[in-house]
Amino acid sequence: MAENGNELMDKLVALCKRRGFIFQSSEIYGGINGFWDYGPLGVELKRNIKDAWWEDVVRKRDDMVGLDCSIIMNPKVWEASGHLGGFSDPMVTCKECKKHLRADKMFFLHVFNDEQKEALVNATEVRAKYPAIAALTVATIMDAAVEADDVNGAVHAAPGAISEAAVKHNVSDLRKCKGVDAWVALDGGTSYARIEGKSGKWYLVIVESVKLALSGSDRACPACHARNTLTEARQFNLMFESWTGAMQDSSSKVYLRPETAQGIFCNYKNVLDTTRMKVPFGIAQIGKSFRNEINPRNYTFRSREFEQMEIEFFCHPKEADKWYEYWRDARFQWYIGLGLQSSKLRLRNHEKDELAFYARSCADIEYEFPFGTSELEGVANRTDYDLTQHQKFSGKDMTYFDDQTKEKFIPYVIEPSGGVDRATLAFLCEAYCEDTAPDENGAPQARTVMKFHPRLAPVKVAVFPLVKKEGMPEIAQKIHQDCKKASLPSFYDEKGAVGRRYRRQDEAGTPFCITVDGQTLQDQTVTVRDRDSLRQERIAADKVVPYVKERVS
Ligand code: ATP
Repeated sequence: MAENGNELMDKLVALCKRRGFIFQSSEIYGGINGFWDYGPLGVELKRNIKDAWWEDVVRKRDDMVGLDCSIIMNPKVWEASGHLGGFSDPMVTCKECKKHLRADKMFFLHVFNDEQKEALVNATEVRAKYPAIAALTVATIMDAAVEADDVNGAVHAAPGAISEAAVKHNVSDLRKCKGVDAWVALDGGTSYARIEGKSGKWYLVIVESVKLALSGSDRACPACHARNTLTEARQFNLMFESWTGAMQDSSSKVYLRPETAQGIFCNYKNVLDTTRMKVPFGIAQIGKSFRNEINPRNYTFRSREFEQMEIEFFCHPKEADKWYEYWRDARFQWYIGLGLQSSKLRLRNHEKDELAFYARSCADIEYEFPFGTSELEGVANRTDYDLTQHQKFSGKDMTYFDDQTKEKFIPYVIEPSGGVDRATLAFLCEAYCEDTAPDENGAPQARTVMKFHPRLAPVKVAVFPLVKKEGMPEIAQKIHQDCKKASLPSFYDEKGAVGRRYRRQDEAGTPFCITVDGQTLQDQTVTVRDRDSLRQERIAADKVVPYVKERVS
């Protein structure tokens, strides 16, 4: 990445606000942490992502149907699903600055002094993996706690020589740490990493997981850098609570759903009874979920209210491995098909010790965001765990009877579970581009352009009269209205120089701009300007609708 990830994020966030993609929730009151609003362009982008997903995973298939379940469900659902007992994150609080931090997302960095390095370099495992390790520069000892997403920040904060880290490769467990080049796990949970300093020197660091580091240590708080102020990790349940009816007591307590999946499991029998679906088949749902995240961060990436798009695909246990691989690969390809570069996408298969106890296999589809490589979607083989739990807690039979083989069984479930907001953020990051485009006089001008896949672009076409006279506005208005009638989101603009109008549309990510000019009055042709190639061609005014339709669908 030529540019620092933070700078890139700052520019993207500024553009999103300036152009109406994303606003802070309740901004006029100072906002509220972990909640976001989508503006006029953002809501179109997000809707296009959801529509593309629904179209591809439900409408185009014979083995999928949809559902739209309520957010608040009978609390027994959350007992059965395990969320009431176990849906929690370990939380550490700083007694000094009162900040709450996710313990499992924190690591401690040490940079080694010469003596310690000596011992480390002698560790055969390290030497075997990194033969050049002995030649590394070693800084004076320093340690600082950091959050996983923010190794960069911590390196900044630590007193010492390293002021900037660079990402080289992403590796297994510490893949979320920017600035970590390579590491090797030793001593059960402690890792060694290489970090590149601003000067180009490489530093050897030890990255210690919080579980190891917290006990009896005087590690610094990542937020305020005070020492010896972090509490032991405590479990913190992520579900938002509320009450139904007039009385606020334990009998009326309810929860805002932390995932949409449970609504699907609860309706699995209803779907079987009311449709002709037969195993293997799947149910899809898009909807809001809520998690009282300890530390919302990275713009919309970790929010407290977000939307999920989830599939539960029910199949015979013997076919589960095959369907798992099918969905994992299909979901990965879906993102590529809509414009995410494959070089920025990663499929990370979970190691055995990372799997939930009921899951047989699981993979994360990850994207290289400017702030680090993080999960977009998880795909898991959840076995028959969920349906068996609901059978146990509800007393209702969840078995499936195959009338051809006469076999009775509880289906296995393959779950591809993605976040709409994370997908939206990934498509925004991917689209952001700075290049040059010629102005009216042909001189190169810097421009910011959002290169959305045409299927996702909020506005598909913009129509301009070159000047506000000689009948040009009327012709342009007609083309604009024809586009709208043909369900092509169109924007009409007659204000200012054409170059400025183009640049506004580039920032909004509009793939095509149509200009009505003097020649249109002679031969009824208009110019079409392509956002990405900047190529301009003339086409008949009455062919604009089919021209754009063909290219955006
Ligand atoms: P993470 O480890 O990042 O907290 P997770 O593994 O808990 O994510 P899942 O429970 O698998 O996430 O949820 C499925 C999907 O829902 C995620 O891949 C993500 O796209 C989305 N998602 C989960 N939590 C959030 C959140 N707080 N904000 C936005 N999207 C989220």
